[in-house]
This record gives sequence, C-alpha cells and structure tokens, in this order.
Amino acid sequence: MPALNPPDRLLMGPGPSMVEPGVYEAMGKRIVSHVDPYFFEVVERINERLRLVFGTRNRFTMAISGTGTSGMETCLLNFVEPGEKLAVFANGYFCDRITDIACRNGANVVRLEKPWGEWFEDAEAAAFIARERPSVVAYVQAETSSGVFQDGRAICAAAHEAGAIVIADCVTSLGGMPVRVDETGIDAAFSCTQKCLSCPPGLAPITVNERAMEKLRARKDQVRSFYFDLKLLDDYYNQSHRFHHTAPVSMFYGLDAALEAVAAEGLEARFERHRANHLALVAGLEAMGLHLHVTDPSRRLWTLHTVRVPEGVDDAAVRRRLIAEHGIEIMGGFGPLAGKVFRIGLMGASSKRENVGRLLSALKQVL
Ligand code: PLP
Repeated sequence: MPALNPPDRLLMGPGPSMVEPGVYEAMGKRIVSHVDPYFFEVVERINERLRLVFGTRNRFTMAISGTGTSGMETCLLNFVEPGEKLAVFANGYFCDRITDIACRNGANVVRLEKPWGEWFEDAEAAAFIARERPSVVAYVQAETSSGVFQDGRAICAAAHEAGAIVIADCVTSLGGMPVRVDETGIDAAFSCTQKCLSCPPGLAPITVNERAMEKLRARKDQVRSFYFDLKLLDDYYNQSHRFHHTAPVSMFYGLDAALEAVAAEGLEARFERHRANHLALVAGLEAMGLHLHVTDPSRRLWTLHTVRVPEGVDDAAVRRRLIAEHGIEIMGGFGPLAGKVFRIGLMGASSKRENVGRLLSALKQVL
C-alpha cells in the first residue's frame, strides 16, 4: 500500500486553515469509548471553553458530530417547526443554504435580500421583522462567500420584540473575532472546527440559551432527525450519558487541544492578532492597487477577505499558479461573485504576519 503523503500547503482560503501542531498530536492519542468517564471529562472541558469563545453563559453549549452544516441543520430542525415562519437575512451563499435546509423541512421561509457584499442596516432589519412577525429569525454573522460581518444586535432586539428567537451562523467568526452571543442576544449559534479554531473539519460547536430551549420543550411533534435531536444529545452528553451515537472521540481530542491553544494565547490577544493581520493584508493588497469587495472597512471580516479580481485577469489561472509555484491555497468566488473575487482567509493558525508577507509577494509575482 502506498503511504499517505499529502502535499505541504499553506492554507489561506476560506477554510480549512492550518492545523495547530498540538491538535494533530492529540488526535493520535489512544481512544477511549464514547461512554467512558474520561471522554465525558474531555467533553466538559471543551464545553466550558466553548462558552468562552462564544461569549456566553449558556449551559447548553457543546459540539455536534459533523461539520458546520450539521450545526446549521441541528438549529433549523430543532427550532423551526414545519409550517412556522422563518425570516432569513439573505446576502450570501450560506443564507441560501439556511433557506434550503429550512424549506426541505417544511418551514415557511421569508427573505430580505441584498447583493452579496452588502449588509443589513439596523432600521431595515427591524422593519423587516416587525412586518413579517416570524417565529424564528436567521442570519449569518460572518458570510464566507462575501466577506461581510453582520452585527446582530438590532436583529435580535427586533426579533425578541416580535416574540421570535434568533439563530446565527458563526462558522467563520468563532475563535477569530468576538462572537458575543449573550451581548448580541443570539438564542442559538453554531460554528465549525476547521476555520478559526484550527482543528480539522468534523465537529460543529453550538450554543443554545434558555429561551430557545423553552421553545424546544414546548414543541408538540418530534424533531425530524434522530441524529440532531438536541433533547437526545443533551441526555447523552450532559445528563444520563446513555448511548445516542458513537461520538468521534479523536475529533473531541483535537478540539480540546485547539481550545487549549486558544486559552494559552488568551482570547483578546487572539482577536487582536486576527485584526492586526487583517489590517496588514488589506494595506498590502491596496498598495498593490487591488480593491476589497466589501466597501465599508468596519463591515469586513478579519478572517476572510474578498478581493476584486483585476480587469482582464483569469482568477482560476492565478489560483492554480499560487498552488503550483508557491504552495499557497486561496479560493475564488462563487454564485454572483464567480470569477470576480479572490477569497483569502486569515484564520486561526493561518493568521500570521509572515503568511501575510508570503501571500502578498507570491500574488504580486503571479499577477
Ligand atoms: N456557514 C458558513 C458561513 C460557512 O462558511 C460554511 C463552510 O464554509 C458553512 C456554514 C458550512 O460548514 P461546513 O462546510 O463545515 O459544513
């Protein structure tokens, strides 16, 4: 059998990011079973640290088996009942995925749409919710397809005023930018492991507050997924520890080590590193005459940059050469931004000043 020998890439796309060395080491440790007391010790330590990165005191904070999309499905399947109205703020690809999953599960979805790269102002968000009076509202805090950060405070305030709960996609922000679940008023948030936490893909951290749990407890029908049923998962992970599914133990080891790295660095220092490297990258790109797709600097993600492809440049050819000649992976845009933007990530262990320099000089040469 040929031995595995993956190429050495500098991962600077929209995820996965470079993995912390300690994470690889942790994932190689011997496993225990998914019902071993040691496993639940690891789970508890992870949950405590996830509360910190999410910015929440929610008891119900844990990691779902599966990538970020499993966190999205979990939130939509548990908190939106068939026939209920879900209001979606739609300004990118992942808002469309939320819509798709909710529609497949019988939700009545209404959308406020904006071009990819724009954001929702407080007043228009509040007016949409007041007009639609939904049961659930969903928005993407960090839209990886467009590079926009959406502040959720006005969305959450208007939703609560209308008696709705709010689901937020924090896949590209968790561990790289302040998510501030409690301060923002988010009722249920989900993320992934492979972006700003610098762990391989495989788990979806989620956090849910009491308001959302009450809505779930009041539900008359069964959640239409066994695997993502939060009441069953709560019982397995946090209450009886009775078998629900065979949790991917090595992934939990990896996430534990990734969160250990976050704790060792300090959350504020980590955010500041991401912010400073973001500003350095933007300055370097602008010095080369390139333009960011998100026009207002205060609405830009620190973790993912959409950069306009210069007139007459073939973006796929540029990306191919970056990989072949420099070993650097960035990605292109898709949907309405296909061929129009490069997507450059500075997430977790990839967010380093030396990586900013390496990418800028490689991009300059290739362009
Ligand atoms: N939401 C956002 C904003 C994302 O960027 C992604 C993945 O890139 C997802 C959801 C889906 O996550 P995953 O690919 O881990 O299933």
